[in-house]
Amino acid sequence: MKKILMPIACKVKDLIYPPRCPGCDRVLAPDERNFCKKCAPKVKKITLPVCRICGKSITQKDEKECLCGDCQKRKHYYDSGRAVYEYSGPMKKAMYRFKYSNRRCYVSAFTEDSEQVLGGWIREIRPDVIVPVPMYEKKKRMRGYNQAEVLANSISARFDIPFDKAIVKRRADTTPMKELSRENRRENLKNAFILGKSDVKFNCVLIVDDIYTTGATVDAVAQVLRGAGVSHIYALYACIGKGNGE
Ligand SMILES: [Zn+2]
Ligand SMILES: [Zn+2]
Repeated sequence: MKKILMPIACKVKDLIYPPRCPGCDRVLAPDERNFCKKCAPKVKKITLPVCRICGKSITQKDEKECLCGDCQKRKHYYDSGRAVYEYSGPMKKAMYRFKYSNRRCYVSAFTEDSEQVLGGWIREIRPDVIVPVPMYEKKKRMRGYNQAEVLANSISARFDIPFDKAIVKRRADTTPMKELSRENRRENLKNAFILGKSDVKFNCVLIVDDIYTTGATVDAVAQVLRGAGVSHIYALYACIGKGNGE
């Protein structure tokens, strides 16, 4: 019964909310999937080789121990992270709309591509739970949703991994991040997250965020989890910048 009903339900949903291309926001043609024909060639999915810590594309084969310039200089608090797309071309506007313009629907394209790009990696690390980078509650109420949570939820459903948004919580932002230097941002973020549950029993956690730039956010969340005794901490993001700490 369920099998017969599902495609009909999907079609009805597609009629009301037709799938759009995250790259240009155009409604997809019946023969297009995830991205439209125009945007698809411009969307750069992350391919190997990548930095073994942050997951950023690296080109020079001889780079020290397969680390990007940033990870050679800075120690991270998570074990390793991987991204689906490079934060360039159509993905810049896609991420903006996903975050600010209520285009939560893009998540289905991001999730399908995460299966293709990161499916093997996710099954290999086998996280016990998925934790989204939390947003300050008041900000979330104002914006209506937390894009990291939307992605984390979808990844959780696709890979059948439990999802828990209550493990880590975000405190109120005290100083607007825009006014801070890169180092001060890192300092400010250190105190931004707190443990939301008193007993965290997970051994392996996957943190999910929308964009990875310097890693300061993921590091700050990872520090809270380490403090709670989590031994393996991984991170997944829809997009990652290229070059050093963009
Ligand atoms: Zn497009
Ligand atoms: Zn790196």
